[in-house]
Amino acid sequence: MMELWEAALDELRSRLSAENFEAWLAPVDCAGLEEDTLRLRIPNRFYADWISSHYLDIILGSLRQRLDRPSLKVHWEVDERLGSSEAQGGSEAQGGSEAQGGSEAQGGSEAQGGFRAQGGSHPGQARTPVSSRSAPRVHMREKPRETTGLNPKYRFESFVVGPSNQLAHAASVAAASSPGRRYNPLFLFGGVGLGKTHLINATGHTILQNRPDAHILYLSAERFTNEYIWALQNNKMNEFHARYRDECGVLLVDDIQFLAGKEQTQEAFFHTFNALYHSDRQIVVSCDVNPQHIPDMEERLISRFQWGLVADIQPPALDTRVAILGKKAEQEGIQLADDVALFIGEVVTNNVRELEGTLLRLAVKAELSNQPIDLDFAKEALRSVMPRPETATSVEDVQRAVCEYFNIRLADLKSPRRHRSVTHARMVAMWLCKQRLGTSYPELGSRFGGRDHTTVLSAVRKIGDLLDKDSKLQSEIEAIERKLRV
Ligand code: ADP
Ligand code: MG
Repeated sequence: MMELWEAALDELRSRLSAENFEAWLAPVDCAGLEEDTLRLRIPNRFYADWISSHYLDIILGSLRQRLDRPSLKVHWEVDERLGSSEAQGGSEAQGGSEAQGGSEAQGGSEAQGGFRAQGGSHPGQARTPVSSRSAPRVHMREKPRETTGLNPKYRFESFVVGPSNQLAHAASVAAASSPGRRYNPLFLFGGVGLGKTHLINATGHTILQNRPDAHILYLSAERFTNEYIWALQNNKMNEFHARYRDECGVLLVDDIQFLAGKEQTQEAFFHTFNALYHSDRQIVVSCDVNPQHIPDMEERLISRFQWGLVADIQPPALDTRVAILGKKAEQEGIQLADDVALFIGEVVTNNVRELEGTLLRLAVKAELSNQPIDLDFAKEALRSVMPRPETATSVEDVQRAVCEYFNIRLADLKSPRRHRSVTHARMVAMWLCKQRLGTSYPELGSRFGGRDHTTVLSAVRKIGDLLDKDSKLQSEIEAIERKLRV
């Protein structure tokens, strides 16, 4: 039976995203087959509801065919331990016949109809054991499974700390070591591919290591939204609340910006937040922008996001990029010489995901062509991602983009004004012109209001020197370059 169950799961695995599979199906335990009834154990009722309406057809279809039992149906049994890591190892000794948690779900439901409360029961009773008889543990898994939805790859040990992510990292470590007490909520924000998801997962893993019975929920705000809407439409709000407010011990929500403009879901999240916060349960939220800059987000949520600690992640500077490359190479068993790491770090500046992707592509290419990854090979292979000579841009284009970005007038950029806001923008514009267009210093001097070429030279040098240390400057330049690309 177990092989058939695993086969049915495999079929689903290939159809679902990894996140959905881990979230919904990995925690389900097949407790055996009795005549035409398949007994499935789940952490709470919400699983029965969700699986019945989303995946049960496929599961039953597959099993009915394999078993040749067209009338096969499902009986759900709730075992709250399944949701926490406590049940993961599933040791026989622990399970055995203990009554703890092994409750049979109220009014065991029938087949595809999903989980129907029967005999006048109401969903609120779902979490109360109605049977003193524990669910017999017919089958115990040999291998522990991740049931929290956490990505096993993302740990603190594999995270490279640098000035750009130091605060976010330290805050995550602190929240993980005393969840619910310090830095609650923890709000991490930063651009795409900079390590938010990595840190939030690492936080979850560490909490779980310290407290194996912690009930951790890690999910994207998108999934939260989907589940909420579904619960609303299917009259399952009690189960939804049970899952998020009552049973959840640590809530990790990725990409909260997804809730922008979704008033009802924001409201649901607000109440979830309050319930968890007021009982000192840790909340970690990630976002692509500062809480104040999330568009169409309720004020009261924005203010709550700031109750704990708000930590940003900036793009890593060159030395951190090189260190990350070193770490990834070590993890993947790729031989990476220092000069090659430095070269990749210089070329790929946008985000860590791109950095990783470039390294892996390079490694595959080297392997396929049976060559070592030396500097020449890397240069040749990376030609496509090297900054291209920008033909379509002119000095005026750069000046305009810089003015737009810093919100100053073109006339000021060319004027003798020496106010800091103007001089900074002017230096950035000069640097960009030199980098992208290769315009000569005297020419730039005349295009920037008749300045001496040495003034331009020192401006370009200054920005060049600052660039590796100053992540704010890096993001300014990146933002202006994005403007120039469109
Ligand atoms: P985000 O969620 O901010 O978009 P991710 O956390 O998904 O970014 O990070 C993208 C990739 O970069 C992941 O594979 C992650 O492991 C890696 N990464 C990001 N920052 C670091 C870091 N400081 N050290 C090691 N790997 C990192
Ligand atoms: Mg992410």
